[in-house]
Amino acid sequence: MLSTMQDAPLTISRILQQGTGPHGGAEVVTWTGEGARRTTFAEVGRRAARLAHALRGLGVTGDQRVGTFMWNNAEHLEAYLAVPSMGAVLHTLNVRLFPEQLVYVADHAEDHVVLVDATLLPLFQQVLPELSTVRHVVVVGGDPSAVPAPGGVEVHDYEALLAAQPDEFDWPELDERTAAAMCYTSGTTGNPKGVVYSHRSIYLHSMQVCMSDGMGLSQGDRSLAVVPMFHAMSWGLPYAAFLVGASLIMPDRFLQPAPLVEMMVAERPTTAEAVPTIWQGVLAELQAKRPDVSSLREVVVGGAACPPSLMRDFEEEFGIPVVQAWGMTETSPLGSVARPPAAATGDQRWAYRVSQGRTPASVQARVVADDGTVLPRDGASVGELQVRGPWVTASYYGEEDPEKFHDGWLRTGDVGYLTPDGYLVLTDRAKDVIKSGGEWISSVELENEVMGHPAVAEAMVIGVPDERWSERPLVAVVLEDGATATPDELREFLSAKVAKWQLPEYWTFVAEAPKTSVGKFDKKRLRQQHSQGELD
Ligand code: ADP
Repeated sequence: MLSTMQDAPLTISRILQQGTGPHGGAEVVTWTGEGARRTTFAEVGRRAARLAHALRGLGVTGDQRVGTFMWNNAEHLEAYLAVPSMGAVLHTLNVRLFPEQLVYVADHAEDHVVLVDATLLPLFQQVLPELSTVRHVVVVGGDPSAVPAPGGVEVHDYEALLAAQPDEFDWPELDERTAAAMCYTSGTTGNPKGVVYSHRSIYLHSMQVCMSDGMGLSQGDRSLAVVPMFHAMSWGLPYAAFLVGASLIMPDRFLQPAPLVEMMVAERPTTAEAVPTIWQGVLAELQAKRPDVSSLREVVVGGAACPPSLMRDFEEEFGIPVVQAWGMTETSPLGSVARPPAAATGDQRWAYRVSQGRTPASVQARVVADDGTVLPRDGASVGELQVRGPWVTASYYGEEDPEKFHDGWLRTGDVGYLTPDGYLVLTDRAKDVIKSGGEWISSVELENEVMGHPAVAEAMVIGVPDERWSERPLVAVVLEDGATATPDELREFLSAKVAKWQLPEYWTFVAEAPKTSVGKFDKKRLRQQHSQGELD
């Protein structure tokens, strides 16, 4: 028997209408370096309509791709809303990719138009002559005449394009399963892989972001969205905020600890979202300046394992709970959130909080052994994490990659275990686990313990070849400003925390930890530095 329910498609235009109507007064604040530009959801909605008309005028039809090469700001939000709502596909280009990767992804996605922040033009101009499908470049917040256009490419000014357009657009009724947006993941081997989100997947994911056991975003919130809109859709915050009317504070290009703390003081966010390396920097800034950041009810950390010491320092020194979430570009990205069970108390709560958390009803997780056996959820059996659900990708765009998908499950490449009450504990990424004499050493566990030492700002651990054990851990340490520590002292500190056979014998002190395009520890680069003898 079929239900009697109506079938309303779950589309971005509905999110847009909710944000601009009932929540039209919510704010979008874009940091300028000297203060902030302010607008409302209602105004963003009007400008999204103008942008959609302008893009039609540039020949965007059907599911053509519109790229963005932009920071987190109000104009990027306009593109997030306009492009999918008009039926086209938003392609967020990661501004920190190497030029050849950028050319690859823009060509692979067949971007027709690219919107570019003026501050990013110097980077974009390096790749523009190589892009084979781009016909229009729209410069946001700057002078388009400064851009030498290659043959066949027209350059426009964003404001001039919008100025002549009407404030309303007749958003088409779309099939909720059609493509809305796409994002490329930095493949560890080979070329980046495209993930294409549907209207439905984004809508469902946005609802999850807003659930109390998700990120709990609601209309009273002001979210400082540090996580870039060019990577994993800023963790879904722009759409989730529009869905429920939470104001957005956008840092634009000011992602350093000092301006982020200034934004916290000036704009009084209730929540903020970033990767651990950003929070590490913000913590040091807070410790130095001790400003009033009491507006924050919590902050969310994800994208890489969060050192427990970082969580404790935030909470104990500033009263700000740090909530850990796990996800990937392939999972929209929110996969799980570490909120302890209500009955847990004291140290029990901490054990849950430093885990990667529980998946919601829509996302199923399992842990699988090398031979394909599904392992029990016993809090001990370690294997590869696999997930599936309505906002988990089932394939990559235009590419076969059977290795990554198995029986309808996505193979995450993350290694860990599940507890009987459904918490996920990741011990490492498969490619980072150190295989020492037939035993596995978790690089993440060592990093977390070393970062608990007061003299250590950051620590990265990789496996390096060893004749006897096949691999042994090497620790690269960044010391706190003005602090000193020797390898012997750090080993001594560690010896109380990890098994003796895991204690690293290789240590190196570096001025800076290499980071990826989205600010995570770049272990690939550290391995290269080691093999080229650049580390002493
Ligand atoms: P990239 O491979 O470029 O880092 P993603 O941003 O999609 O691409 O990263 C997804 C990966 O980030 C996950 O597979 C996992 O290894 C790691 N990750 C994300 N959140 C966490 C977390 N809370 N704890 C540990 N690892 C995490």
